Amino acid sequence: MRARVLILGAGFGGLELATILSDALGDDADALLIDRSDAFVFGYSKLDVMFGRMTLDAARLRYREISKPGVRFVQETIVEIDPEARRVTTSGGAYEADHLVIALGADYDFEGTPGLIEGGNEFYSEEGARRLSEIIPTFSEGQIVIGVVDAPYKCPPAPSECALLMHDYLSARGVRDACQITYVLPLGTPVPPSPETSAALLEAFEERGITFVPSRRVQELDPGRSHAALDDGQELPFDLFLGVPKHRAPDVVIASGMTENGYVPVDSATLQTRYPGVYAVGDVATAGVPKAGVFAEGAARVVAQNVIAEIQGGERAGRHLGQGTCYIEFGGGRVGSVDIDFLSGPTHTGVYHAPSADLVADKANFGSIRRARWFAA
Ligand SMILES: Cc1cc2nc3c(=O)[nH]c(=O)nc-3n(C[C@H](O)[C@H](O)[C@H](O)COP(=O)(O)OP(=O)(O)OC[C@H]3O[C@@H](n4cnc5c(N)ncnc54)[C@H](O)[C@@H]3O)c2cc1C
Repeated sequence: MRARVLILGAGFGGLELATILSDALGDDADALLIDRSDAFVFGYSKLDVMFGRMTLDAARLRYREISKPGVRFVQETIVEIDPEARRVTTSGGAYEADHLVIALGADYDFEGTPGLIEGGNEFYSEEGARRLSEIIPTFSEGQIVIGVVDAPYKCPPAPSECALLMHDYLSARGVRDACQITYVLPLGTPVPPSPETSAALLEAFEERGITFVPSRRVQELDPGRSHAALDDGQELPFDLFLGVPKHRAPDVVIASGMTENGYVPVDSATLQTRYPGVYAVGDVATAGVPKAGVFAEGAARVVAQNVIAEIQGGERAGRHLGQGTCYIEFGGGRVGSVDIDFLSGPTHTGVYHAPSADLVADKANFGSIRRARWFAA
């Protein structure tokens, strides 16, 4: 009998894993990819959607287009995971696996910040970004607060990009002088592993008159008074609040008993959980790397190689190195990047590359290469 691989979640990690298994094993693979959604959206496309550079419909890459030997996709919601039995129950049935990979990402805990939804907006979900694409064009004066309510959160540079793109958007509409932008972050600098990247972002904020409030959390919003309460007692008035909500593993993962402190602990070298034959990759896991698609992919590559080695023999993967490049929108069509390395050496490093035409092209290729690899045969 062929070894059954069950991949829970078709995001960065799940899609990369399914692709590698199919490429290596072809019809000999027996992989089932399960996701509750009918489409994948790159995280950074949400910024494009909120600022009207792309419609949500155009950003959605439909799973029905997946065409890969040895891989079957089903659109079902996972309602129970039994990691000991490697058995999963969904809205459509029950499945057992020889290799079970949890790639369910991080969910948002909107209720964890009182007033966030009643009084503000968030731009981290598809629906939140779409809603903002209707609100932002009507905003022409007042205080904008971009607030990250807690860490860890996905893609550490994304809220900085939001502030810079907001500056551009308001400038293009001729209303920038009537608006103030304040950016509140629980971290001390915009991209802590890379002081150079942080310095470039801080300089960009200063040039554009964006106020940066480091090392502070937004604890709650008072919708009646339109004030954001910070963790040091400060209150910030706002006319438009753009939030990054609290993150945590999906409820179904927490209910499975696999989590500790909100996420699934794994061996950071192999992504193995404490259950034999069960792995966790990407934002759902505590693998010692930031929450970003590139790290989910890197983790998936390690798991894929080890699963392939178990199925057909061959070399096992080296350890997960926690390396990846994150692109950063600086506004004005400029794109910089940072090469992050979290696990290969004794310290975290982040090498900054200033915005350039090459990086604009690299970011476009990043999306088109993955779209082609993950969705076509
Ligand atoms: C604004 C923004 C900008 C970003 N920019 C970048 C960037 O430039 N570069 C980068 O690398 N990363 C970026 N990210 C982060 C990136 O999107 C995530 O870190 C990445 O998607 C994580 O991959 P994953 O495979 O762990 O989970 P995900 O991609 O989140 O996939 C998890 C999947 O699990 C499914 N799922 C969850 N629960 C269930 C259930 N119960 N049943 C069935 N299916 C379920 C979900 O539908 C989802 O498809 C950005 C994120 C945001 C919000």
